[in-house]
Amino acid sequence: MNKKTWLEKAAPGIADLHPYIPGKPIEELERELGLVETIKLASNENPLGPSPLAWSQAQMVLGDVNLYPDDSGYRLRNCLAEFHGVSADAFILGAGSSDVLNMVARAFLSPGVNAVISAHSFAMYAIYTQACGAAAKVADPLPADHVDMPYGHDLDAMLAQVDDHTRVIFIANPNNPTGTWLQRDELKGFLDRVPSDVVVVLDEAYTQYVEDDRFPDGIEWIPDYPNLIVTRTFSKIYGLAGLRVGYGIASPDLLAVIGRLRAPFNVSLPALAAAEKALEDGEFLKQSILTNREGMQQLEAGLDALGLKTIPSVGNFLCVEFERPGIEIYESLLKKGIIVRPVANYQLPNHLRITIGSRNENKMLLNALNEVLSA
Ligand SMILES: *Cc1c(COP(=O)(O)O)cnc(C)c1O
Repeated sequence: MNKKTWLEKAAPGIADLHPYIPGKPIEELERELGLVETIKLASNENPLGPSPLAWSQAQMVLGDVNLYPDDSGYRLRNCLAEFHGVSADAFILGAGSSDVLNMVARAFLSPGVNAVISAHSFAMYAIYTQACGAAAKVADPLPADHVDMPYGHDLDAMLAQVDDHTRVIFIANPNNPTGTWLQRDELKGFLDRVPSDVVVVLDEAYTQYVEDDRFPDGIEWIPDYPNLIVTRTFSKIYGLAGLRVGYGIASPDLLAVIGRLRAPFNVSLPALAAAEKALEDGEFLKQSILTNREGMQQLEAGLDALGLKTIPSVGNFLCVEFERPGIEIYESLLKKGIIVRPVANYQLPNHLRITIGSRNENKMLLNALNEVLSA
């Protein structure tokens, strides 16, 4: 059988699926172009490396990896319970938070029902939805010339997409790839208006970077909204993307259903150990926030000096607009050993998403961009 025939045999939704395009790995670029000193500003990873506390704890347990990890992640869930001031049975662990997003999709989505998402939001929402044979209903974003939040989520437009067949709504706050965000009042008002039998996934992968006090902590709403699940990850600010660990927080009744989809031992032993310690590493968090704040200022100023427009972002990345297809700039930057992220698959063909790097990485990026644009 050829690929086409296999696709006909595949489960509903698989044939129309466009798989996730990850950031290009450094090793791959070096292999392809014979470069040696390349940098990656493509996947919103932490330029400071992993939390040192987490790193040493992961190393400590490597001698035990002949054993399966604790399936339910009892210790990490209890650390999280203390950290967030929520009971331990309100947590579900995932191999990255995308694992949790996938479980939610598989628990509630199937042919004939739909999930509502916003345009320009995290690609995995639509991918997991379609993989279940369900439809992704995409709400228009706020307009590109909106005064506060260009390209942001339009909650009214999202609500208008909700119908009797809607089972899940995915919201990223802040959103990737735009860096836009939703304020406490508007998001709370939205939750009040969503039918109580529709699951709302509030994806807070970048929440720790946000310094505006109008920014909400979705976890506070869990007791009031039994249909709400908040997801968090250790991949971004904690610097543990390579270990794959994240979590969801929701009412135990909702988690009991979602948890039916969790694969046994889905979070590895070193990932569990590292995540426990990462929660204690307040110093690393502070440093990471500071590095990001300074890097953001550096990049915004540098890009502005190059005459480039950016979408205002509260994350650890910036979406930059060009006057020609982003993919062309991307290719030119690759040749200079710099990996950024094309976002044409997010309906942003003239933008690139650039992760805030270290001071030196940001400088290299700005220099390279200057060369590319003046070439
Ligand atoms: C990076 C990211 C995630 C999570 O990735 P994991 O590594 O699977 O935890 C989730 N949502 C958004 C919006 C992201 O950018």
